[in-house]
Amino acid sequence: MTKQLWAPWRLEYIQHADEFDGCVFCRASDGPDEELLVVHRGESAFVLLNRFPYASGHVMVAPYRHVGDFGGLDAAESLETHRLAAGAMEALAAVFSPEGYNVGWNLGRVAGAGIVDHVHLHVVPRWSGDTNFMPVLADVKVLPEHLSETRAKLAAAWSPADG
Ligand SMILES: [Zn+2]
Repeated sequence: MTKQLWAPWRLEYIQHADEFDGCVFCRASDGPDEELLVVHRGESAFVLLNRFPYASGHVMVAPYRHVGDFGGLDAAESLETHRLAAGAMEALAAVFSPEGYNVGWNLGRVAGAGIVDHVHLHVVPRWSGDTNFMPVLADVKVLPEHLSETRAKLAAAWSPADG
């Protein structure tokens, strides 16, 4: 079966690949939000769209601090990361009405982490009938909406009660 792929952000990635040295989370921790796809900023952690998403609205929550060890997160970072994941789900519910979520940490290359030295929590919205979580890691997926639009909608839908 031939898979059709229309994914302009993949082309952007190829065009800008050599500008992507260093840590994407550290770079995104310091703005500008629109260009770096940051949805929301907390005190010690922030929410950004995954530039290479498994599904529409796939966001990640990361501490600002460059830390690769899950156990190295301090109490404030741990708490805020989870609170921001909850906030992201609320914003996603308002914008995309997903029917469920996969929320999780990929720790280490063998576990599927693309970036191993800055821990981050994935929040992936799910709909019945969408692709299973593991096969979509193959990174060939047609997505209906461009990332900058998704970012703007989620940022606007963020509830002030969620930090
Ligand atoms: Zn980093």
